[in-house]
Amino acid sequence: MVRHASFKKMQIQQKERELRAQSAHSRRRFITYGAVGLGLTGVALGLGGVWYGTRKATSLVAPVAKSVPAQQRSALAVTFTDAQKDPTLRQAYLTQLIGTNTIPFCTGVVYDHDGSAMQGYYKKVGATDFIQKVDVVRGGDYDMKTPDVLNTAGRGESVPIFVGRQLFDAQAFAYMVPEDIRHVLIAHEGHHCHQHAQGLSYLSPEGALQGLNDETIHPTFWYFIAEQDAYLHDLPRLLRGEFKGSEYHVNDSKRRFIENGLNLTKASRIARPLELRLFQGVMEAIQKEPLLQDISIPSSYYEQRKRFK
Ligand SMILES: [Zn+2]
Repeated sequence: MVRHASFKKMQIQQKERELRAQSAHSRRRFITYGAVGLGLTGVALGLGGVWYGTRKATSLVAPVAKSVPAQQRSALAVTFTDAQKDPTLRQAYLTQLIGTNTIPFCTGVVYDHDGSAMQGYYKKVGATDFIQKVDVVRGGDYDMKTPDVLNTAGRGESVPIFVGRQLFDAQAFAYMVPEDIRHVLIAHEGHHCHQHAQGLSYLSPEGALQGLNDETIHPTFWYFIAEQDAYLHDLPRLLRGEFKGSEYHVNDSKRRFIENGLNLTKASRIARPLELRLFQGVMEAIQKEPLLQDISIPSSYYEQRKRFK
């Protein structure tokens, strides 16, 4: 038993060393400006195998979307297919998709074909070194991102949501019907806007910034906490039918929530006190949400996913 326990301890210490070694490199990039882009998908920072991306590049293709009634897909003047074919129609597509819906604390949904829009935003808020050091905009080759600049967070200020080329060009999003995209933009990214304006209820933006600066919170841990908090808010809205997403999107959203939760649980084993406080905060909040108590995913989803990734 002792032998086993000490081996386990060694494993944990090794992971911790790896995590800290990585953080020395990556943290500087994030912390100087306390900025991180909160997208739909997780990031793979390769931290000693503790963290991994919540979504691998997949190749979901049209068959998934075919089960969606035709009227749901053609309700828009500019269709998703139009926007896929013609980048000049993409802003119009997003604008009509959001329609009269208001996204609290969001200044607008901006299509960012070449990454210049998001780059311009970071320049505007003074995070110029951040964009030089972190390839966050990737020439527009990203899905959806809400910039989170901790230095200006918690002041009730609104931020834009940026949509990169991947939403229209990547096979991974080919399954999406308009309602799926609306859900991601309004409920998920919209919640990131809320987080930026009001902070997370588990820790103030100042506390988070300080924790990131003095290295008591790993930036990746913070990122996944923010993601879990976003799922906590966006998934119930999908499950209660506020958004009539496709069956695949509902299951895919459940999977993200579960995977991110598992990542956090794993990382919590070597969490520092402030990280543990964040972890317990988000987990307790999840326990209070009735719709998240019984999340099951039909095996058909995994079968479908296996075929497309
Ligand atoms: Zn997110």
